[in-house]
Amino acid sequence: MAPHQQKSKQPPKKESQRVIRRRNEKAEIEAIESKLASPEPLSDVKYFNDLPLSEKTKEGLKKANFTQLTEIQRKAIPLALAKRDVLGAAKTGSGKTLSFLIPILDLLYRSQWNASDGLGALIISPTRELAVQIFEVLKKIGRTHTFSAGLIIGGKEFHVEQERIAMMNILVATPGRLLQHMDQSVGFHCDNLQVLVLDEADRIMDMGFQRTINAVVENLPKQRQTLLFSATQTRSVKDLARLSLRDPEYVAVHEQAEHSTPQKLTQHYVVCELQEKLDILYSFIKTHLKSKVIVFLSSCKQTRFVFESFCKLQPGIPIIHLHGKQKQTKRVDIFRQFTNSQHAVLFCTDIAARGLDFPAVDWVVQLDCPEDADTYIHRVGRTARFDAEGHALLMLVPSEKEGMLEELKNKKVPIEEIKIRANKQQSIQTQLQSFCFQDPEIKYLGQRAFVAYMRSVYLQRKKNIFKVTELPADAFAHSLGLAGTPKIKFVKKAEKAMGPKVVDTKEEEEQEQEENQQTKTKYDRMFQKRNQDILSEHYTKLVDYEGDKLGDEDDDDFMTLGRVNHTLESDEEDNMKDTKANNLSKRQAKMGKKELAKRSAKGEKLVFDEEGKPHQLYEMLDESDFLKAGDAKTQKDAFISETGELMKVADIDDKAVAKQKRAEKKMKRKMKEREARELAAGKGSEDDMEQYTEEEEEEEEEEEEYTQKRKWFQGSDNEDESDDQEESSRKKRVLQVDEPETIQDQEALALKLLGGL
Ligand code: ADP
Ligand code: MG
Repeated sequence: MAPHQQKSKQPPKKESQRVIRRRNEKAEIEAIESKLASPEPLSDVKYFNDLPLSEKTKEGLKKANFTQLTEIQRKAIPLALAKRDVLGAAKTGSGKTLSFLIPILDLLYRSQWNASDGLGALIISPTRELAVQIFEVLKKIGRTHTFSAGLIIGGKEFHVEQERIAMMNILVATPGRLLQHMDQSVGFHCDNLQVLVLDEADRIMDMGFQRTINAVVENLPKQRQTLLFSATQTRSVKDLARLSLRDPEYVAVHEQAEHSTPQKLTQHYVVCELQEKLDILYSFIKTHLKSKVIVFLSSCKQTRFVFESFCKLQPGIPIIHLHGKQKQTKRVDIFRQFTNSQHAVLFCTDIAARGLDFPAVDWVVQLDCPEDADTYIHRVGRTARFDAEGHALLMLVPSEKEGMLEELKNKKVPIEEIKIRANKQQSIQTQLQSFCFQDPEIKYLGQRAFVAYMRSVYLQRKKNIFKVTELPADAFAHSLGLAGTPKIKFVKKAEKAMGPKVVDTKEEEEQEQEENQQTKTKYDRMFQKRNQDILSEHYTKLVDYEGDKLGDEDDDDFMTLGRVNHTLESDEEDNMKDTKANNLSKRQAKMGKKELAKRSAKGEKLVFDEEGKPHQLYEMLDESDFLKAGDAKTQKDAFISETGELMKVADIDDKAVAKQKRAEKKMKRKMKEREARELAAGKGSEDDMEQYTEEEEEEEEEEEEYTQKRKWFQGSDNEDESDDQEESSRKKRVLQVDEPETIQDQEALALKLLGGL
């Protein structure tokens, strides 16, 4: 409408297309803004098409098949479009991503943002996987626009990111990497930033990114709009909101809802003994081969062990695993792989618990109890996304049941018990035992998995749920296929605290360090591990032990500090070396002799001269000394001919000795036979014959060997023709001797031979 009026007023002079487009856009923007300014509430709008959005955004949404708004989108988008700060809270899977991406695109569009304006919008995500996911959605709906967008999550070389970062209009970033660029990338400016988004703010806080976020926010212009989204409304999220938002609109959906988990999610728990868990899991997988399943475990080591051993069991469905010890690029690959598979089982740690949107996940199985109800909600949030159906199964050991169910009830999680039919259960213990027996790596992983699980339980904050002393340690170790129970010290300590109860536990020095630590949440520890120093994330990468390889193993969640430090040049280096040396000697003290011998340097062969001084078998001469005896080629030729002569002489001697030996042997045999014959009045027993044949064969072998030796020597260049002839005639003689037909023949030949010598 408006553009037409303007057009008709102006004379039809030749205008460039660009000018026309600009004018049209301007008109469109004015129309949008007047709509936004109207008092008419937009919170009832049902379709994206009815929102005051740019045509480009609408087209992008249409192409990505988004037509109808979700509840959080209905509430948050109009406010964000009106440039208000928003604090949005809604369950996982309810569509928060579009709630900030749509406003970002339109706000920048309305500001006529272009390449020269620099960074206009910044989205911070707690994990790289989630950042990738946000970026993918942005690409999908933003392709109709002309903004440049980038992903800053590490994993790529820092300088490559540095080159590109300066040119981006929209960035999706993880906190650590972003701060690193703010500090180190000269071309990176945020002075013009219009919109800041903190997605999964609860998790950003949980992971201990608070200080990083504060540092990032300090670098941003005060005059900006901030959108903060979160699945749960924790205290820390409110703290963050206070710090970063100005007069925010608080938008929460589902707060009054009866349940905190998606409606189409059916949730069950099963109470089982710790040692039954893997059997149940295996039986579950075998009966769900046409499903897409995520299985949550409490540590990387367990994830690895279960992954490796289940792969060997070949249940008939692709198995993959995702955990924090994998290299970043690998994690992203696995994430994509699982996203694209129709049927698969993904074993993972809580790294995948929040924010990731795997399409069409049918089942979330929690093999290990989550640390609290919030973690439970996040884990099950991986299924029943948006409008889909989903199922969740939680495995609880008897000691966890009461405490955890109480927690879930308080958080309005509707969950019911199911019993597993015994006849559906299949035991894999024998197979696991044989894997551990056959493959030391699996056994090693099993031991680590055992310790990691026990430790994770020990370190849990909620002692009303997690009772490490009540766990059947031995039975659990057996269920992993281990012949003995690995030694763990902290259980003893826990017992002391609990009162006198005896469980067979012994020392393990690896745990000493961590025992001195306070009990912390899993995310505290994750944070400590991966972000001890946000600025040095790339240093951490330098010592990233290729995450996923077996045998890179000293990947103790709580010991990374030491490992990272000792590879950096620092004041503490000497200290670290001492500790390392101590650790080593302690470990060595525990190692068996065999193991020690295997690890120690190999021995060297020495020769002693006449004065009894040791020398290396081969010692290097000075070049000048070496050349005194002629150049390399003449020395080589001299060596060959000299050694050749020696060999020839030795050969003749050897042959003579061998011949004599053979003849003597035969003679002895003859004598024996003769004696035997005389004794048995001329009758040869069959046994004797047999004996004879065997000895004969032995001799033939000897001869063969000998001939081969000789042949090797003959083949060398130094042998001349006449020698050859002599050799062949000798050979003939030997052959004559070797083909006797009767015992008498042999006797005669033997005598002849003896006489010939
Ligand atoms: P959250 O961030 O709240 O956990 P997401 O933004 O990841 O949720 O969205 C969850 C799923 O719902 C995604 O697969 C997304 O494509 C889908 N979705 C979101 N909004 C809509 C919509 N308006 N119409 C259809 N699907 C949607
Ligand atoms: Mg999300």
